[in-house]
Amino acid sequence: MTQPADRSLLSTCDFNADGTLSGGHFSFQVDFFDDPGIGFNDPTFGAAARAVVCQALRDMSFLIEASPDCNGLPPVLRLKIDASMNEYPTSALDPIVLGRANPLYYNFSNPSGQMPGWVHNSVWRTVNGGEDPTNYPFVNGEPVYHGMMRFNFHPNISWNFDPQNVLSAPQFDLYSVVLHEICHLLGFASLVTDNGTSDIDPLGGYTPSNSGLYTNYDRLLVRNESSYSPLLSPVNNCYDITFQGNINVLTDPCNVILLRDVNTGLYLPVVAPNGWIDNVEMSHLDDIGGPFACNSTHYLMNRSVIQNALGQSFRRPTDAEINLLCSMGYKSSGVYGDGSLSFHSVVSGNNPPACGEFVAGVDDDGANCHDHFVFCELPGTISISTILANDIGVLPNIDANCIEPVVGNITFTAAPAI
Ligand SMILES: [Zn+2]
Repeated sequence: MTQPADRSLLSTCDFNADGTLSGGHFSFQVDFFDDPGIGFNDPTFGAAARAVVCQALRDMSFLIEASPDCNGLPPVLRLKIDASMNEYPTSALDPIVLGRANPLYYNFSNPSGQMPGWVHNSVWRTVNGGEDPTNYPFVNGEPVYHGMMRFNFHPNISWNFDPQNVLSAPQFDLYSVVLHEICHLLGFASLVTDNGTSDIDPLGGYTPSNSGLYTNYDRLLVRNESSYSPLLSPVNNCYDITFQGNINVLTDPCNVILLRDVNTGLYLPVVAPNGWIDNVEMSHLDDIGGPFACNSTHYLMNRSVIQNALGQSFRRPTDAEINLLCSMGYKSSGVYGDGSLSFHSVVSGNNPPACGEFVAGVDDDGANCHDHFVFCELPGTISISTILANDIGVLPNIDANCIEPVVGNITFTAAPAI
């Protein structure tokens, strides 16, 4: 599972001597974990397949801006490409799973258990905070990588590996599928289960018991009704996130749940099959090409991106999806791709929306630019501006109710430190 000390044992996206792939605003370490001769190491198509993954990541790194790390350098995203799948459904009714993505999370806990709240995954934290969160406690993470992806190279699946060429049916388009999985890693990912609880179920549960841990994508989920009430909200206006209202909305079909794009004020439909399908519900948009289609729009984050026999392929997220990424806290540069391919915006002139602002809280404990705050000389007064000094885009304007209790006699104040 872990990255070997000698990364030359793996196939990688290493274009640079230091073992990274340079990107537009952030860089990568991308490690392919296939055994020799298999999947991304296949002697016939492996190199072409790896090149598509590396190109799609590099292209997205020109779109998504990043906060520098503590040394003023672009942050490095470490991604694991897990051993390839070799699966094909036995029934024509079952979908062909072309790829999977697994964003990793870490979360705060205290001696009494796991904290509920909104969680930003490790990819988000690295890109927007410029720091490496892997040395903190994680809920479903691991100590090296910020996210993981894998792809299916069953011999019945015919892939198109050339981003410049259109597809010929019945091929599937690897660039489209990689982009789709990258967007899951960036944050198109829900932790809502079929009964409204969090998919991350810690030992001992959450306190209070009806609360849970959800993503900042989940924070945008609303009911399709006149008031657009959120599916989840913090009952104490703070960390205790709970599911709100009738649970049937999770299993009712068609346009019952929307994502609120706070940037544009628009609403995007979440895919809604009749019933519940694990790993599909909530993390995809409803698309005319999908099996549960209720709308007439195409989205990269369609549940089946995928059916490129229909002639559908994606060379970047749709403008609506880029705006949604901005609503999740990313900043879009308004430029897509490194300029090496004809569909890149500097070549085509077809510019994506520029949107979003950096707002990221950075932990006050860690290597490089962070100092430990040692509360050993208390009682005393700590200026909140000191706590926020290493955060990005954060004004010292907070709800004091959301400051976690700290043992000791401490007064938080927004006044400058004396
Ligand atoms: Zn997906």
